[in-house]
Amino acid sequence: MLATVLALILLQTPPRPAAASPARKAAAAGHLVYLCGGSRSFAYHAAPDCEGLAWCTTELRKATVAAATKQGRYPCGRCRPAR
Ligand SMILES: [Zn+2]
Repeated sequence: MLATVLALILLQTPPRPAAASPARKAAAAGHLVYLCGGSRSFAYHAAPDCEGLAWCTTELRKATVAAATKQGRYPCGRCRPAR
């Protein structure tokens, strides 16, 4: 019951304003990014709600840019995470 209420509250929370700030580009390699755990995924993302992650059916993982790059991931073209 409580979980349902929480889910409703989350759904009604307006999305955060687009974070296209220059600060994101200045992020260090230790900046956390998000990637789909699926073996057919190749990109890493700046935000977990990126549309590039919408189709991800496996676990969503958090990693540093350095770790993601080491795994052969490249920055998502939609949310443009730090490199
Ligand atoms: Zn993305």
